[in-house]
Amino acid sequence: MTPGPSLVLRERRPKGTEVLIAPGLAVGGAAFVVMAGPCAVEDANQIAEAAAAVAGAGCPVLRGGAFKPRTSPYSFQGLGAAGVRLLRDAAARQRLAVVTEILEASDLPAFEGVDLLQVGARNMHNFPLLKALGQLRRPVLLKRGLAATVEEWLLAAEYLLAGGNDQVILCERGVRGFEPSTRNTLDLSAVVIAKQRTHLPVIVDPSHATGRRELVIPLSLAAAAAGADGLLVEVHPRPSEALSDGAQALLPEDLRDLMARLPAVLGSVGREMWRPLPFRRAAGR
Ligand code: PEP
Ligand code: MN
Repeated sequence: MTPGPSLVLRERRPKGTEVLIAPGLAVGGAAFVVMAGPCAVEDANQIAEAAAAVAGAGCPVLRGGAFKPRTSPYSFQGLGAAGVRLLRDAAARQRLAVVTEILEASDLPAFEGVDLLQVGARNMHNFPLLKALGQLRRPVLLKRGLAATVEEWLLAAEYLLAGGNDQVILCERGVRGFEPSTRNTLDLSAVVIAKQRTHLPVIVDPSHATGRRELVIPLSLAAAAAGADGLLVEVHPRPSEALSDGAQALLPEDLRDLMARLPAVLGSVGREMWRPLPFRRAAGR
């Protein structure tokens, strides 16, 4: 019999784990954290515009893939290390934290200054990568595999905790289903089950789950109602020009609309939107 998860189980930490991704910015506490940005970093101008949209909507974290795991080798593969630098610079100018995907441990030097290391759905079963990230003391965002059971997802997280890294956020991003009208099937049951079974925070990616812009806001609200700890959402200044996943990218005004609608849903389940700490003047000034 396969030994089951242990360190990730809720009974180990009934109150839950808060993952601190930047000073004053924890995922898994009372506050709901929205991470947003384009599928991929494309150029300096695109990521600067996206960062302004993300900050303007009140989201604290900028996403953007630089090392992209594309289904076809002929698709845009991302800007690599240069893309991470562009992402970090754009985020710094807007005082945002950053999350970006890492495909292999040997790329780690390019990820200096990245607040949250994303393991994508295709790499959830990449055990050497999980073992390497388990040796770090840096936050990891672990997406659920394309067809992974909740048990397999928790066991992937267990690899990180077994290495000593408990700074792990789980992300439900839809699973392979039979329904062709969505890219994947968003499994909100898995969010509730994962929240019950583990002490780790769980967020939802409604963009890759649905593949369709018009479904992203309704399912984001549903995720908040289901008890998710946050969202990972794709937004692009000009989705029609996006080099990847344009059909699922929100427009900047859609992101503002989502952020305006979330607090009512969060309030109904006893949560609140993450807000920056009020600026405190240094004594004597
Ligand atoms: C992504 O978030 O950029 C991504 C590739 O998503 P997933 O791994 O869920 O397909
Ligand atoms: Mn994408």
